[in-house]
Amino acid sequence: MSHSELEKRRKEATPRGVGVMCDFYAAKAENATLWDEQGREYIDFTAGIAVLNTGHRHPKIVEAIRKQLDLFTHTAYQIVPYASFVTLAECINEIAPVTGNAKTTFFSTGAEAVENAVKIARAATGRPGIITFSGAFHGRTLLTMALTGKVVPYKVGFGPFPASVFHGQYPNAQHGVSTEMALESIERIFRSDISPQQVAAILYEPIQGEGGFNIAPEDFVKGLRDICDRHGIVLIADEVQSGFARTGKMFASDYYPNSRPDLVTMAKSLGGGIPISGVTGRAELMDAPEPGGLGGTYAGNPLAVASALAVLKIIEEEKLCERASRLGAELVETLEKAKAKCPALVDVRARGSMVAAEFNDPATGKPSAELTKQYLRKALDAGLLMLSCGVHGNVIRFLYPLTIPDAQFKDALTILSRVLAD
Ligand code: PMP
Repeated sequence: MSHSELEKRRKEATPRGVGVMCDFYAAKAENATLWDEQGREYIDFTAGIAVLNTGHRHPKIVEAIRKQLDLFTHTAYQIVPYASFVTLAECINEIAPVTGNAKTTFFSTGAEAVENAVKIARAATGRPGIITFSGAFHGRTLLTMALTGKVVPYKVGFGPFPASVFHGQYPNAQHGVSTEMALESIERIFRSDISPQQVAAILYEPIQGEGGFNIAPEDFVKGLRDICDRHGIVLIADEVQSGFARTGKMFASDYYPNSRPDLVTMAKSLGGGIPISGVTGRAELMDAPEPGGLGGTYAGNPLAVASALAVLKIIEEEKLCERASRLGAELVETLEKAKAKCPALVDVRARGSMVAAEFNDPATGKPSAELTKQYLRKALDAGLLMLSCGVHGNVIRFLYPLTIPDAQFKDALTILSRVLAD
């Protein structure tokens, strides 16, 4: 099948609403390497949008899934439970970045985890309101679309959205939003939109993912925690993109030990390539919904649970938190050096291996999605697959598997330096 024939079939068979970034098709993948149908090799710095912190097809994950395949692939946990689900919940409870005893349950996608965290917060407080932030991304279902703080392309043509959702400002030094302004925007919501006594939850990303890898300043998270404590509001951290060693700690929330969230959503790298998501949180909140209120046919599928248990083991055995910090530091050094030859590169920010490079047009000083795309294209032509993000589409985010071999990582940095110097 020729490439152009496949493209023609794709356009005829699938709707244009599913935007596809690459113009080649995956054939196989291993750790940080991906091959297309023509046999071309790419270094994968996208990891399936932050899903593969443990790489493509880690042998221990493949083995765990294979073992489970021989036992059973599905029973629906709510019908016939299985011990591995409980074991995984226990493992997550142990590492959950919340205060006191934790309980955890599982779903399939990040959006489902966020929806269920909102359900839990509403059941626990008996309140409707949810505050999220501009630039946030929480998913593509109706509620999570409403929670998401970016209109194009996520919300266009899909309204009306569920009510009682309000957006505050997320701090962003690069774009002139201070912590004070961000916290004041919440007080403004309390004055003009909804009383704090009607707000069930404040939902935030400790590092905004799709919004541009914006790192929450410590005083902002402390401010959120204070507001929640003052008004009996549940603080939910969305760690779908930032979780599982990406930032150099198990969760990004671990960077704010004095301002812990009440609930945490997770997905992506929890499953190492098999769809699974979860909500963990303070036990008394997690127990608020009535029996039957939470769940789903595929929620915590046994193959995905087996994969997730292997992921947790690999993170520990291969010291992926330490590795994330080391690789991230090397990448930041490369990017900082590149600044001298690349005036468009205006900001480099990182927490562990959650690294971002932001580009403005040197002529205008304005965010440039166009330039960013050109760098991505040149890198791809040289065999390095990367992804953009940011409300202005002018940020390259780096999401390589944390298991990437050192030599291959160096090769990628060489390509990157060359592209940015060009
Ligand atoms: N929350 C965050 C922070 C995300 O980055 C994403 C996905 N990019 C989601 C939620 C939604 O996850 P999913 O696509 O698995 O529904």
